[in-house]
Amino acid sequence: MKSWLKVSSKSDFSIYNLPFGIFSTNKKNKRIGVAIGDHVIDLHACNSLDLFKDLHIESYVFKNSFLNNFIELGKGITSKVREIIQLELINENSLIKHNSNCIIPINTVEMHLPVNIGDYTDFYSSIEHASNIGSMFRDPSNPLLPNWKHLPVGYHGRASSIIVSGKNIHRPKGQIMPLDSETPIYSSSNRVDFELEMGYIIGKNSSLGSSISTTNAEDYIFGKVLFNDWSARDIQKWEYVPLGPFLGKSFASSISPWVVTMEALDPFRVAGPIQEPNVLDYLKFDRLKNYDINLSVSITPEDSNIESIVCNSNFKYMYWNMNQQIAHHTVNGCNLNVGDMMASGTISGHTKDSYGSMLELSWGGKNPIELKDGSTRTFINDMDTVIMKGYCEKNNIRVGFGEVKSKILPST
Ligand code: CA
Repeated sequence: MKSWLKVSSKSDFSIYNLPFGIFSTNKKNKRIGVAIGDHVIDLHACNSLDLFKDLHIESYVFKNSFLNNFIELGKGITSKVREIIQLELINENSLIKHNSNCIIPINTVEMHLPVNIGDYTDFYSSIEHASNIGSMFRDPSNPLLPNWKHLPVGYHGRASSIIVSGKNIHRPKGQIMPLDSETPIYSSSNRVDFELEMGYIIGKNSSLGSSISTTNAEDYIFGKVLFNDWSARDIQKWEYVPLGPFLGKSFASSISPWVVTMEALDPFRVAGPIQEPNVLDYLKFDRLKNYDINLSVSITPEDSNIESIVCNSNFKYMYWNMNQQIAHHTVNGCNLNVGDMMASGTISGHTKDSYGSMLELSWGGKNPIELKDGSTRTFINDMDTVIMKGYCEKNNIRVGFGEVKSKILPST
């Protein structure tokens, strides 16, 4: 496939990708766009040309602050919209090509949160990450808790503070228990960290009391984004017993603005790690459920403005796959809604340069890592910009996520 629009071979937004997002410009208010190379296709303008006439979609679906109404149409419709845009971008005589109103340079748009997120669940599904944390805080010879290989551990997070790439956040404040102290203090966090994760957006409602099988789980996944699950390790350490993460996590999570569809990711399926011991029947699955997605994290200090990659990981390392997470999430009858966000948990690999958090990279703050500008980090400093990127590549076909980028500002 080749588009008449010029697309660099290094672009994440190839003709094979066509992710959906919500954009605006100084002339156009929020609406759905599709990214291709250095351009955004305005789906509301396309709809005005009757491009989707046969699909009978009402125009408010495209001129909308969120993708939810679009996603609710179901994959039968949304994948057809994507195919129509794909054909338009290939066909030299297409309507889009001759209507400049449909094509907008990507550097002139503002991107917004793509979905109105109802509920957010964070899993803990990387065995390397869970083992690193267990080794650091418990027992290196037996790092995993007894439940870990039997169920995808997760917790209910906070949806209201999920923000889009480009929005900066202030260093959070809260209760911290200093070393050698018996009483906590109120302070800015000294251990702000990123967590390299991927999120997926639920594309279909399920009903209360019903469960989703691993076989049917894919029908419920619309697409994926990069997910930086910001964490304040010192707040987390003091508060988490016995109910788990709370304010050390809920101050912000940042996501990439373009939602890459499962159709676009399909060619990049791979086998996941072998699961031993055998899982219970409701968690068993067939065929390839992991995805080969290269991931990286960089830190750019404000004063030097030199970017250093501190982590290279891959989504394929996940021990528990998305289908198993959905089957487990609903096994008790809990319902899922369109727009819910599920995050993978920190994605670490085997090697020290593949750890998906500063907590692991600096091993609990003991081993500072050096950046290209000569400065060192154990956690994230004020005015550091953290950027996560992700892409798949195979047979010269590239499908990527762009980036999720946020700067840590000083406490207010
Ligand atoms: Ca997390």
